[in-house]
Amino acid sequence: MFLIGVVSRVLKARVNSMEKLKTEIAIIGGGVIGLTIALRLRSEGREVVVIEPNEPGSGASYGNAGTIADYAIIPVGTPAVLKNLVSLLFDADSPLAIRKAALPTLFPWLMRFAYEALPHRYRHNTARIAELLSDASSEWLELASEIGASELLSAKGCLYLYQTEKAFRAASSDVARRASYGIAQELLNPNEVRSLEPNLPEISGGGVFFPKAINFTDPSKVMDVLASAARQAGVEFVKASVERLSREREGVRMTATNHDIVSKAVVIAAGAYSGTLAAQIGDRVHLDTERGYHLEFDMDVAPVERPVCPTHHGFYFCPMQGRLRVAGTVELGGLNAPLNPRRLDVLLANARRVFPELGEPSRSWMGFRPSMPDSVPVIRPSKGGRDVVLAFGHGHIGLTLAPRTARMVSAILAA
Ligand SMILES: Cc1cc2nc3c(=O)[nH]c(=O)nc-3n(C[C@H](O)[C@H](O)[C@H](O)COP(=O)(O)OP(=O)(O)OC[C@H]3O[C@@H](n4cnc5c(N)ncnc54)[C@H](O)[C@@H]3O)c2cc1C
Repeated sequence: MFLIGVVSRVLKARVNSMEKLKTEIAIIGGGVIGLTIALRLRSEGREVVVIEPNEPGSGASYGNAGTIADYAIIPVGTPAVLKNLVSLLFDADSPLAIRKAALPTLFPWLMRFAYEALPHRYRHNTARIAELLSDASSEWLELASEIGASELLSAKGCLYLYQTEKAFRAASSDVARRASYGIAQELLNPNEVRSLEPNLPEISGGGVFFPKAINFTDPSKVMDVLASAARQAGVEFVKASVERLSREREGVRMTATNHDIVSKAVVIAAGAYSGTLAAQIGDRVHLDTERGYHLEFDMDVAPVERPVCPTHHGFYFCPMQGRLRVAGTVELGGLNAPLNPRRLDVLLANARRVFPELGEPSRSWMGFRPSMPDSVPVIRPSKGGRDVVLAFGHGHIGLTLAPRTARMVSAILAA
């Protein structure tokens, strides 16, 4: 009896300390996707609340390579990747590795990934990604100017690097596919690569240069500017983590840390954490995470002028304000395991293969890409109705696709 009394007093205290809130639109997650949607909906006159337990923009949106990759139409799963999948996954040093302990949990996602890499699915997925990416740069240029982030944009293009002639030849089908979607790209021989980026070591393969590509010189600052712009426009931020989501007569109820929030409509934009929330509302999706890493080296002048991707290593050298960021690679390993120091060692060793003079890194980071097996984000109403909109799963191109996603979510809610 005594115990029951104590439990009921604790529960009552918890209910009393619950802050209640009603709003028109609640956005779960304040990464680049949630923030961009919030700003857009607020500018259309909606009442918007963003629910986010951490600093806005401090998830995957913080540590990425900063490229507005409108050329990146090729999904992660391709017939070539499928052919080498087993050797890639089980080589701990490969750009696409797996934590063996996570294999049982990841198995359904991997099966789906393998299916989506079949030639007909790969072609289909490429077409869908190409359509989503078609206006990405111009949409970001417009948004950056609107929020005062234009000075954080650089427009020097982006370079893919192929070490050997064989690798360069093998890239020709990707080149042809991108050409068929009208993507601006220039094939460079080794001398042309060196004249574009004189500090790169000699290669025997070649390069693919995307002259129109743009990139951010500090994704974290962009997130700060975006969050401030949303606040100034009147978006309210609630510091809480949504634990439960349910449809009720008065609206969609979200039980969050110390908060009870009811909203007419909800957007699930919690990045790699969105799957559980979507399932609670009746939508089962094959969302998992591709863990990505970065190392940063503080320096006044970076050895590259623009983002450069040595494709065999699966990362980008990114010139950023006051530093060089080396960002990328994929580790399939779920959301709970800690950062894997071996992946950082491999990243460092491969970075030094290109630039041997790189010293010790100034900082390191691991983040969770929200990834679908087909590399196509989920941007649609929930199966149960338009009162819940799904906006997650952007994988490697979430920064790039944020304005487009916001436009699509706004159209769904307006319909
Ligand atoms: C190494 C690396 C390099 C990359 N390079 C690029 C690139 O060059 N170009 C590009 O376009 N993309 C790139 N990406 C991908 C891009 O960073 C992501 O696709 C994008 O940041 C995803 O944004 P998001 O808002 O969906 O997720 P996140 O930024 O992770 O935000 C999700 C937010 O939801 C919050 N959240 C989680 N659970 C809850 C809950 N229950 N309640 C409330 N809030 C919750 C989290 O705290 C988090 O802040 C890269 C990613 C990595 C890892």
